[in-house]
This record gives sequence, structure tokens and C-alpha cells, in this order.
Amino acid sequence: MMREYERFMGLAAELMRAALDSWRAGNRRFAVLHAGMGCEHALKAVLCKVDPTFISDRSDRAFKFHAHGFGDQPGVPPLIQGRTIGLADSFKDASVVMQGRMPVSLQDFNQVIDDRNGVAHSAYHVEDRAGKTLSVAIKVAEATRKHLSVPSSDFWGDYELVFGDLAQVASLAAVGGGAAASNMEEAAETLARTEAAYAVDAVVPVVTSIVSTLPRWGSMRRSKDHQREITESVLRASVCTALSAVSRRAQQAAEALLAEHGLLPLPPEPHVPWPRGLSGRAWLNEVIRVEQPRRTQAANVLTVRLLVSRAVTEAFFGALRPNIPEGFDKTPTERGWYIGVTQPSAEAEIVFDCPGCSTPGMTGELQGQLEFDDCGCADYCSHPERTRTTARFERLHCPACSLTLTDPHEIEAAGFELSMDWDE
Ligand SMILES: [Zn+2]
Ligand SMILES: [Zn+2]
Repeated sequence: MMREYERFMGLAAELMRAALDSWRAGNRRFAVLHAGMGCEHALKAVLCKVDPTFISDRSDRAFKFHAHGFGDQPGVPPLIQGRTIGLADSFKDASVVMQGRMPVSLQDFNQVIDDRNGVAHSAYHVEDRAGKTLSVAIKVAEATRKHLSVPSSDFWGDYELVFGDLAQVASLAAVGGGAAASNMEEAAETLARTEAAYAVDAVVPVVTSIVSTLPRWGSMRRSKDHQREITESVLRASVCTALSAVSRRAQQAAEALLAEHGLLPLPPEPHVPWPRGLSGRAWLNEVIRVEQPRRTQAANVLTVRLLVSRAVTEAFFGALRPNIPEGFDKTPTERGWYIGVTQPSAEAEIVFDCPGCSTPGMTGELQGQLEFDDCGCADYCSHPERTRTTARFERLHCPACSLTLTDPHEIEAAGFELSMDWDE
């Protein structure tokens, strides 16, 4: 039977080859994204080989009990809720285990981490950032392959002789792998440019004319401060309405493009039954393996959404900012342009820096429901009435760039956990 580190390494190899397929097809963002995920699995394979508990979040109870055969005891959370360590910690811990054979520093690897999380990087055009990130990821993956003595041909497949030379990979005719994604990036970039141009040419002039007449809407009956407050509120409301109009349009166009290329709708989530006799660990590996193609597709969908979000918000603010009258915050204040409003249905909500817009002060909202269960702690604990509260997130929304994610794999691809301990 395949051991778990071998399974992780198998996934890592699949993703690294998917990254090279994407690079070959000219889809630079997809390449970087797949390579980031591939490195994560490769580093976890290194740790898993030492001990599977090395990849579990230190505080995670589910993982600890399942790993040692207590998964069926009362009070043990289901394994699917188990949390594993993130990419940065995987890198740091694997560097220790590899005893000086990690070829790059954490500082260099940070670029892989950043690009996996903030996939749509505008710097891709000004410098060869995607190529640099991919090269770092390939070096790390290759070092883990050597460390675990996986044959090069098994890991790199058709790329065995060329994986170290991205120019040569790019010169190969694009075939197979990620056929659905082929040319996707170019089409998405064209769409992003069209939508950004629409924002600048059609919408910004309208907001500008409203904004420039605002100071004339005064009233003798209001004090200067009161007047200023009103003007600022109207200014914010006009800007937000206009941005929402352009960004919604852009997101709808992105969805249509994704559907045209067969990336949306995502297939139904696979259900993996837990057969008797299979250990919790083996079952988790099976879940990861079966879910992988869907996760990759969700990550590609997210990449396109982020690419469009960023292009539109950057263009919008770039064109609008010089037209905002003197004295009215030209840059968003620390409060931001938006003040988050909790949806009545959301019990749990956290506010975060939106991965889709690069403008500081923009915040998105991650919303979900609360679940309560017996905490199962031994003896004394701080849980009120021995109840553990967990937030389950189901929707991510940014009112600025209109990025809206409701698929769990897309939310995870954006770098967010689906569940969170709400007691802390
Ligand atoms: Zn407790
Ligand atoms: Zn946003």
C-alpha cells in the first residue's frame, strides 16, 4: 500500500507538471499557482515521511487523535475538520528535516508564498516575476524529490530533461494537460483590459462630474463642519456606487468567459465514503487525491476572477484619484472607503484585506454560521458550558471589487480556512 508521503509526493508531481503545462501554454499565473500548491504538497511529503503529525496544526485535536487510532472515540472531531500547517511553516520545518539541503532561503521562498496567495500580481508585466517565482518553486520541488529519492522521470514526466530551463519549456508546442485552461489567461487578460478601459472611459467621467459639483451643494443652514461631513458621505457613496457598477459588470463578464472555456460551473464535490478498516489517515489521503482536480480547477477560476478584479479597481482609482477635490481624502483613510456591514444572516464574520483589490483600505468580508458542540476537554477548561464554538465560512465578498466566492475550494484557494475556532 502506498504510504502517505508517497501520496503527497504524487500530488506534488502532478501539480508541478500542471505548472509546466501552463507555462508552456503561456498561462503564467496558472503556472505560478500550481507550482505553489505543488511545493506545499512536496514539503508536506518530506515532513510526513518523518511523522504524519509533523504536518498537523499543533493545536489540532482531530489530527492528533485520528493519527493515533482514537478517531472513533466520542468527543473526537471528524478528520475532515483537521487543520494542517500552512506553506510558510511547511517550508521552515522541511528545511530543518532536510538538514541544509534546502536550495533557497525563506526570503526567496516568500515570493512563492505571496504569489500563491495573491495570485494576480500586476508586477508580472513589468518584470519577469512569474518566471522567477516558478524557478524558485522548481528548485524546492527538485530538492524534495532528491531528498525522498523519487526517480526524476516519475516526478517530472515528459519534462525530465527540460524542467530547469523555462525558456525551453515555453518553446515546446502547447499540448494536452490543462487543455481547458489553454489560452485562458490570454483571454482573461484581454477581458480585464476591456473592463478596465470601460471603467476609465465610461464611468470615471460621470463620477468625476458628480464629485466636482459636490462642494456647490451647500446650505446656509449647515455649519461648515456639518456641510463637509455631508459632502464627504455623498462623495464616498457616489464613488462606491460607480465602482460597484463597473466591478459587478466585470465579474459577470469573467464568469461568462470561464463558462465559455469550460471552467465553470465547477463539478459537484466528490463524496468519499469512509470504508471500514481504512485508517483515518489513509482516508484523508484518499479525500485529498480525489478532490485534487476540482481544487486545481477552482484555483484557476479564482485566478481569473482576481486578475479581473485587480485590473478594474486599479484602473478605476488610478483615473479617479486626481479628480477628487482638494481636502477630501485622496487616499482611502484608515477606515477605508467601505465600512463593512454584516449581513443579517451571517452569524460569523471576519474582515480581511481583499485578495482581489490592491487599494489599501479596501476590506472584504468572510461570512458564515456558528456551530456549537461539546468541547470534550479533559477536566477544567475555559469553554463556556463545555461548549466549543466553530465558525464555518461559506461566503467571501468584497463590496469594492465585487469578488464573490461561495465555493469552498475557491475560498480555500484564496488562502482562507473554511472553519475557525470562534472561542479565541
Ligand atoms: Zn473545553
Ligand atoms: Zn476586493
